[in-house]
Amino acid sequence: MLKLHEDYLRSILFGLEDSLVSTSGVVVGMAAATGSNRLVLIAGLIAVSVEALSMGAGQYLSERGVHELDKAHTDNLVVGATLMFACYLTAGLLVITPFLILPFPASAFAGAALPLVALFWLGYFKGRLVRVPPGRSGLEMLFIGGLAALLGMGVGLITKSL
Ligand SMILES: [Zn+2]
Repeated sequence: MLKLHEDYLRSILFGLEDSLVSTSGVVVGMAAATGSNRLVLIAGLIAVSVEALSMGAGQYLSERGVHELDKAHTDNLVVGATLMFACYLTAGLLVITPFLILPFPASAFAGAALPLVALFWLGYFKGRLVRVPPGRSGLEMLFIGGLAALLGMGVGLITKSL
């Protein structure tokens, strides 16, 4: 099996996890506040594309700092930034997909549940990849990422009463 560079693995996991958590907060909050799939899609697309670009840039710049400090790093900065961007975008689009294909409010329930399911499987496959117990890895990702996602959704729900 092709060995995945540890810095690329971090970009992939970070991009997917962060996107699942933060996009779900935005879309569930928007769904609760507006009850409109169309407005959720607009807000979701803006949030996902802006964040994916920002995370790619942030990955490049922060990893560049690490490389300047530690000359032993051999990973390519552009590859790491591209992986971050692509993973963030992919997971974000996954989270907003229910609002494209399901009527409201089924879309909102799917938009809340889908990221939690995806977080578990992300942790599960990470566990298999790095050879730690996958079920435990999946639950860890579900609890830590899921807690952040639920808090994000809570912030979104609070804004409904504004
Ligand atoms: Zn590096």
